[in-house]
This record gives sequence, C-alpha cells and structure tokens, in this order.
Amino acid sequence: MTWTPEDRAPRAYRDTATAARKGLIMIYTGEGKGKTTAALGLAFRALGYRWRVAMVQFIKGKWKTGEDKMCEQLKGRIDGFRMGEGFTWITKNYERDVATARKAWEKCLEVLKDERYRVVIFDELNYVLKYNFLPVEEIVEALKQKPAQTHVIITGRDAPAELIELADLVTEMREIKHPFRAGLKAQPGIDY
Ligand code: ATP
Ligand code: MG
Repeated sequence: MTWTPEDRAPRAYRDTATAARKGLIMIYTGEGKGKTTAALGLAFRALGYRWRVAMVQFIKGKWKTGEDKMCEQLKGRIDGFRMGEGFTWITKNYERDVATARKAWEKCLEVLKDERYRVVIFDELNYVLKYNFLPVEEIVEALKQKPAQTHVIITGRDAPAELIELADLVTEMREIKHPFRAGLKAQPGIDY
C-alpha cells in the first residue's frame, strides 16, 4: 500500500506543528470520575520529557493516596504538596477554612512563579472557589501573569465561569456509570 498524506493519524496536528507553543491553562471539571486521574495522566506524559511537575492538593482525604506515595518516590521530578490539612468539614469554621485555602493558594503562587516547573496541578482549586474561600478574581489575575511556558491544570467540580473563560482547554467529566452506585467502596489504586 502506498502512503498518502491523508493516511496520517487522526489528531496528529501535522498542519499546526509549527505554530507557536505556549503554556496552557487546562480545567478538568464535572461530576464524573477522572478529573484528578486526567491531571496525573498529563503529569506522567510530561515526566517523559523530563519536565518537572508540581501538584498542590487543596483537599486531603482520609488515606495517603497512590499519587502521594509516587510523589515521594519521584521527589524532584514530581513534587506533591498536600495543603488540605485544616479544613473544618464538620464544625464549619469559615475563617479557618479561608486561612487554610489561602495557605494552599500561596503554595500555588510559589510553584507557579518557579520556572523549574513546566507543569503545575492545582487539584480541587475549584472546590475552594465554590465555597468562596478565595476570590476568583485573584486567581484569574495570577494565572494571567503566569510564566509563558508553564502549563497549569486545575481540577474539581463546578469550575467557576471566570476560570472557564480564561482557560485554553476545559473538559467536563460526565458520569455514565460509577461503581459507587452499585454499593462498591472506593478502592486503592483506583480511587486513591
Ligand atoms: P479521580 O481522583 O478518581 O480521578 P475525580 O478527581 O474526578 O476522581 P473527585 O471529586 O476528586 O473526583 O472525587 C474523588 C473520589 O470520589 C474518588 O474516589 C472517585 O472515585 C470518587 N468519585 C468521583 N466521581 C464520582 C461519582 N460520580 N460518584 C461517586 N464517587 C465518585
Ligand atoms: Mg479529584
């Protein structure tokens, strides 16, 4: 069989390969599973180019996750910062939650300004914006000033309209089926 230009793989973007490259702002939102998973998938891809990755997590779960363990093993290549300690789920202390969110956001600013990081992940930033723990305008302003080559990934349900407007890529995860509905519990290696 002879090869023709039409045989190229779909989505190979051959025609745009020479276009200027820039760091993107990408959002994974929606109710379905896969937002943090997608961010980690991009991190894996970036690591293949020896790019350094930072992940700031706004929410800390009950268990140490697989990604936490992997960040420890890959320290200096992917650096994980778990900043979610201190949110008051039950007592609902708004001032304290604002302070916790602010501390996490300051870590985000630190890694964003650090040009050694080519990819930065702000996991569950959308969550703290939804609860007005941080003003969205401040986040938008900081993202507008980001280093040109840095890719930023933001996850969490209910991404605010202002961030969607600013972003280059927004994907909504939509649940079609989730094992939770059949009564299955969260599993290591899959959910955490
Ligand atoms: P993951 O980290 O698995 O990619 P996510 O980032 O899209 O999930 P989160 O809102 O951060 O979703 O929730 C994390 C946890 O909640 C995971 O254990 C995940 O399996 C679970 N989860 C995600 N979506 C659903 C859903 N639609 N119903 C029930 N549990 C869900
Ligand atoms: Mg998540």
